[in-house]
Amino acid sequence: MELLKKSALEVVASEVRVCTKCGLWRTRKNAVPGEGNPDAKVIFVGEAPGYWEDAKGQPFVGAAGKLLGTLLAEAGFSRSMVFIGNVLKCRPPRNREPSPAEIKTCTPYLDRQIKAIAPRLIVTLGNYSSAYIFSKAGLALESITQARGKFYQANVLGLAVTLFPTFHPAAGLYSAKYKQLLTADFKLLKLNS
Ligand code: URA
Ligand code: SF4
Repeated sequence: MELLKKSALEVVASEVRVCTKCGLWRTRKNAVPGEGNPDAKVIFVGEAPGYWEDAKGQPFVGAAGKLLGTLLAEAGFSRSMVFIGNVLKCRPPRNREPSPAEIKTCTPYLDRQIKAIAPRLIVTLGNYSSAYIFSKAGLALESITQARGKFYQANVLGLAVTLFPTFHPAAGLYSAKYKQLLTADFKLLKLNS
């Protein structure tokens, strides 16, 4: 099973690396397919690559990634146990917000990754990721502030999964309050996984 999952993920990654389906390929240095354990029980979904992710072709390797690494460790996860991906696989210029058209064009890749891994839990980091996964689950998301830090039983792409929305780790870099709430949310994650 694990081998099948691994090869399905490798096929997605190889398509992503040469993808030209939306305009973001023109300004990227590297596409960022996402990475982690094909047998992961937990997937973390961010928004889009930033400067360092684009430079290295890996997810969450900049400042927000460093905080994510700390939060993961505090929750008892290592990066190699989980899978880490993004809604968009290429960096929007100057880190602008993803457009609805880019999200629509790119998310079939994320959907295929989720289906291949079939995780028990999907942790959505921030607004875009939470809004996308909640819409796939047919759940309403009023706001990340209101929805965060709670577990939701859901069906996503035909899979029975638990959803756990929280803030984007970048928010924790801007404000001590967000960092505190992120820390509290990851503690809950530890208790329930
Ligand atoms: N922010 C994201 O949403 N994803 C990354 O991979 C890095 C920063
Ligand atoms: Fe393709 Fe997604 Fe990159 Fe757009 S953002 S070029 S759809 S991989």
